[in-house]
Amino acid sequence: MLVNEIFYSLQGEGYYTGVPAVFVRLTGCNLRCPFCDTDFDEGKEMSEEEIVAEVRRFPARHVVITGGEPTLQINKRLTFLLHKSGKFIQIETNGTHALDEGVKIDWITCSPKSMPNKLRIQRIDELKIIYQGKEQDLTPYETLGAKEFRLQPCDTQDETQNQRLLEETIHYVLDHPQWKLSLQTQKIIHVR
Ligand code: SF4
Repeated sequence: MLVNEIFYSLQGEGYYTGVPAVFVRLTGCNLRCPFCDTDFDEGKEMSEEEIVAEVRRFPARHVVITGGEPTLQINKRLTFLLHKSGKFIQIETNGTHALDEGVKIDWITCSPKSMPNKLRIQRIDELKIIYQGKEQDLTPYETLGAKEFRLQPCDTQDETQNQRLLEETIHYVLDHPQWKLSLQTQKIIHVR
């Protein structure tokens, strides 16, 4: 498998915010979003056993497999070995690619970058939408059968715009309580 990096930090976003977690960032993505701030092209070849050995160096039970787009590479052997080591597996996916048969994931966070009819992921536990402003229609997502609905203001790299988007996100959540506010707390507390 091609791995961009493995590191230990706190989960910064969504339902598991604040949970110590080992992050496995897999190389490659099938989308090219204009606001993407992730370097996902680089990677080194690692076997499933090598990935699990690296993950086991850290004390946390929680493992976040992300990318890029993790479903492009994640396989049955990796999730089997992680579960055998007692790990809890969360993935962060754009949802446009299905998991391979037999891949077992404990928590699927889907952050769609396209309309719901493009989603191919088998299940969504947590839906996380990056909010880009009032013109964005969220109603098509509201009927997706997720356990959690999170709205996260887009980081535009511009302080004034970010403040406006944060306020709009708060207003939207207050008016539509199916949603909860998600913040990129890793950027607030300056951890990875
Ligand atoms: S799906 Fe995620 S990783 Fe892929 S290009 Fe879009 S923002 Fe970047």
